[in-house]
Amino acid sequence: GNKTRKLEFVLAEAQAHGAQTLITVGAVQSNHCRQTAALAARFGLKCTLVLFGDIPQSPSGNYLLDRLFGAEIVWAERETHEEVLQDVFQRAWSEGQRPFLIPLGASTPTGAVAYAYAFKEFIEQGGEADWIVLASSSAGTQAGLVLGARLSRWPGRILGISVDHPADWVKARVAELATQAADRLGEIIRFSPDEIEVNDEYIGAGYGVMGEREIEAIRLFARDEGLLLDPVYTGRAAAGLIDLIRRGFFKPNERVLFWHTGGVPALFAERYAPNLL
Ligand SMILES: *Cc1c(COP(=O)(O)O)cnc(C)c1O
Repeated sequence: GNKTRKLEFVLAEAQAHGAQTLITVGAVQSNHCRQTAALAARFGLKCTLVLFGDIPQSPSGNYLLDRLFGAEIVWAERETHEEVLQDVFQRAWSEGQRPFLIPLGASTPTGAVAYAYAFKEFIEQGGEADWIVLASSSAGTQAGLVLGARLSRWPGRILGISVDHPADWVKARVAELATQAADRLGEIIRFSPDEIEVNDEYIGAGYGVMGEREIEAIRLFARDEGLLLDPVYTGRAAAGLIDLIRRGFFKPNERVLFWHTGGVPALFAERYAPNLL
């Protein structure tokens, strides 16, 4: 998934700071939190996750894996999760745990740099597409792709389907992160929000709420291709892609690449699985 790529680079940063504990934040079914917990286990670090949303009746999906990977869980309200995160960090710091704080979605300039390298792999595989369509939320993934595209002078267009935020917010954040990530690579490139393409028509009832469109996309990809999408991110982005195709948004001769960002364990969450069939 996309978080594994970002976290590979972010971990190096944490190690350079001598971190012994990784602290991060996300929703109950966060892929990012689950992959941070796995990484911490793999590298012998402690992991504390600040999770928000309804506390599950029984562990399932990503939350089951968080527990399996041995992460410590701190529950927060959606509205106050940033304050709880800061408190958890301060406490760990004063206890001498050498904490390293990874922001939501690992969408930092470093995380975006990691994704510019993902784009480089795409180019090495041929880079043959007129469009890339992906799920966009905390913006680091799209920022990395946009930067990678610029660095390799790729002529296509990159369309983020927003999973939760208004398009203007995502565009501004992608431009900011891509600019900062370029700086990390020693390139002075200033990205402007106007050149970033984001569609926010598929947010539906909000983050993590699986609707009819997502269910249709998940079933279609599974039955026609044997491919799995998750209810929160790739399912929503694919639903947007399907609708845009039906509405004639893409020209018939254009090649459209759906960039799969991972996230499959959420399929098995108790709040989604029973509604998929
Ligand atoms: C986090 C996530 C995204 C969105 O990536 P951002 O960098 O936060 O925009 C897309 N797909 C999956 C499966 C994710 O977990």
